[in-house]
Amino acid sequence: MYTNFQEFLTGELSAIKEAGLYKDERIIVSPQGAEITLNTGQKVLNFCANNYLGLSANKKLVEAARQALDTHGYGMSSVRFICGTGDLHKELEQKLAHFFGTEDTILYASCFDANGGVFEPLLTSDDAIISDSLNHASIIDGVRLCKAQRYRYANADMNDLEEKLKEAQAQRFRLIVTDGVFSMDGNVAPLDRIYELANKYNAMIMVDESHSAGVVGETGRGVTELYNLKGKIEIITGTLGKAFGGAIGGFTTGKKEIIDMLRQRSRPYLFSNSIPPLVAAAGIKMVEMMTETNELQDKLHFNTKYFMEKMMKAGFDIKPTESAICAVMLYDAKLSQEMAARLLREGIYVIGFYYPVVPKGEARIRVQLSAAHETEHLDKAITAFIKVGKELDIIK
Ligand SMILES: *Cc1c(COP(=O)(O)O)cnc(C)c1O
Repeated sequence: MYTNFQEFLTGELSAIKEAGLYKDERIIVSPQGAEITLNTGQKVLNFCANNYLGLSANKKLVEAARQALDTHGYGMSSVRFICGTGDLHKELEQKLAHFFGTEDTILYASCFDANGGVFEPLLTSDDAIISDSLNHASIIDGVRLCKAQRYRYANADMNDLEEKLKEAQAQRFRLIVTDGVFSMDGNVAPLDRIYELANKYNAMIMVDESHSAGVVGETGRGVTELYNLKGKIEIITGTLGKAFGGAIGGFTTGKKEIIDMLRQRSRPYLFSNSIPPLVAAAGIKMVEMMTETNELQDKLHFNTKYFMEKMMKAGFDIKPTESAICAVMLYDAKLSQEMAARLLREGIYVIGFYYPVVPKGEARIRVQLSAAHETEHLDKAITAFIKVGKELDIIK
């Protein structure tokens, strides 16, 4: 039986390769950080991690995790409701709720799971989900698992959202769903206007803060902070795998009855293991650090502004944003790959994205800034961009 299937897969895989869409993975042998070492021995500056606050190898987090290994062991060997709930899990849930100004939090193994398990327990075929067209894959999959009526509005297009809200008046409850920051353009969802429309058309809101928590807003509380909406959004989801230490884990935080219902009915929570205590312990430390000082958030904001301003001054076409994602627009797919390859030779690790990850004719290099970057790292990257940009006739 496998022979036929093997042939089929081999054919499909070659087609992926021929289309230039095959994903190769580079192997890193050092901790994640501003400077990383590849298995080829090459040392490069990393501008493509979600390590926004530089916490992936932070000494205090590593120490907190190490201590938890001694006090709490390695794994829980259980889902939460049987015997997988530790004191550290409960403490992290409370700390995250306090951080976001919400009522309660539920932890998941990932934000993919949080989004996969949030819709189906809360909404039925009587209800409506109104989702931004550029929402993350995990939101799309989560919505698919739910029987609610689906509406999709063009990315951040408030006229379109309003149209869809009018149509959705036919349903009982309405939930607008959006990423806080869209990962390809780095644009921030216009949550102030979404909130106005939600009030006008009697809808609830869910925001996925995966790329915005720790990053957006003066103290890194995300888009709800940026738009002064702390405590006013019904559901926030997020990840511990990006700015918040970069290990693993996700969460849903918001109104207490919603969180309570998720604990009763959310399938990825009920049927998947608890996060390891050491991850919860490091998470607690992370929230404490971000509450005590704004140092890392300030440094990230400084770095982002610094990099974007210098790149625009050099003549690059940059999408303006308040996130730490900087899309250097090249439009041409081949050019984006050539540029990324040449930048790697200059010691700058970035990724070129093209169709189908971004729309046709909108290829780009995505740069992700981090509080781990020092000004000298940024200068080195900018110099390399200018050198390669001139070689490839992208700038004068
Ligand atoms: C990264 C990301 C996720 C997935 O987070 P994991 O914890 O890695 O599963 C979900 N939503 C958005 C918007 C993301 O950017």
